[in-house]
Amino acid sequence: MRAFQVCYLGFPDSCAAPPNPIHQGDPQLRGVAHSEFPELLELEAIIREGGSRLDTQIACEVDVGNEKFPVHVVALGNPSPDVPVAGFFGGFHGLERIGTAVVLAYLRSLVGRLHWDSVLHRQLESVRLVFMPMVNPGGMWRGTRANPNGVDLMRNAPLDALAGAPFLFGGQRISSRLPWYRGLPGAPMEMENEAVCRVVEQEFFGRKFGIALDCHSGFGTSDRIWFPYAHTVQPIDHLPELHALMEIHDQANPNHRYVFEPQSRQYLAHGDLWDYLYQRACIEPGRVFLPLTLEMGSWLWVKKNPRQVFSRQGIFNPLIEHRQQRVLRRHLSWLDFLSRAACGHRHWIPGDHVREQYRERALQHWYDKPPT
Ligand SMILES: [Zn+2]
Repeated sequence: MRAFQVCYLGFPDSCAAPPNPIHQGDPQLRGVAHSEFPELLELEAIIREGGSRLDTQIACEVDVGNEKFPVHVVALGNPSPDVPVAGFFGGFHGLERIGTAVVLAYLRSLVGRLHWDSVLHRQLESVRLVFMPMVNPGGMWRGTRANPNGVDLMRNAPLDALAGAPFLFGGQRISSRLPWYRGLPGAPMEMENEAVCRVVEQEFFGRKFGIALDCHSGFGTSDRIWFPYAHTVQPIDHLPELHALMEIHDQANPNHRYVFEPQSRQYLAHGDLWDYLYQRACIEPGRVFLPLTLEMGSWLWVKKNPRQVFSRQGIFNPLIEHRQQRVLRRHLSWLDFLSRAACGHRHWIPGDHVREQYRERALQHWYDKPPT
């Protein structure tokens, strides 16, 4: 069995302390305590299979009772800051296992092709791919949406909705016993979110262009692609780029069924991590950081198999095997499209001379602004 190298990100003092490297060395050590955690086993099997062709790091480790779970980061492709990056995140919400499964399916496909796919190798010369498939392993282990501290990681960033966030669901500070808990006011972000921020800083903020996709499930009957903002109905600065991305996706996959829209069209929320990271990315002029969320429409799976409604897992995940396979198949091409879109971004990003026209079209499309 091929050994793989585990290294730790060198993080500034303001971040959470680096984890105790108790697992450094043979990743098989992890399997002992985690034998009932299929996603973690699959991720570590992929890491072993990829061997030295992957850059692997443990961004932090999460304690749950006597267990300690790593938050793995896997990267492949050109590490140069001159190339664009595409990042794939999943498992922020522990109940939404299908999000992690979608990211793992794509990573598994890439790693499986590394030994023969010369086109993939050429692609990887021009792009960096970063994976963080299981951000909240403690929540997934416990079967909760929140992390082990009871905090909803997607309501935890230091950012308030300006107005109109729904009561409780939009984020609350009443109690960690209720869902959608934001954490204590003024407290640092949770360790898992700090880890995501460090990875985004390290892999995205040093580059001119990046797309991040965060995979979730549980909302509605359609598969949705959301972009910021979630905390306000105001459009973001990079609306022209998002409209251009939607257009090339429509051209490349004319029969797709995704609804592409700002998250604020559905609901507003406090503490959205991607809003927070997007705003931080925009501090640097000329940097393009497009964070997207895939929100898989799990109500469709419940409709087709109504008994699922009686299971907490069933509300968020396809429980029947062939349906799970169909979900994984369907989204693979969307994730691969994003890698290619990042790779070829210079060919579709609107230039200065047409950027305002794209913005106009986007405002008409998403914000009901009448044509000028
Ligand atoms: Zn979610």
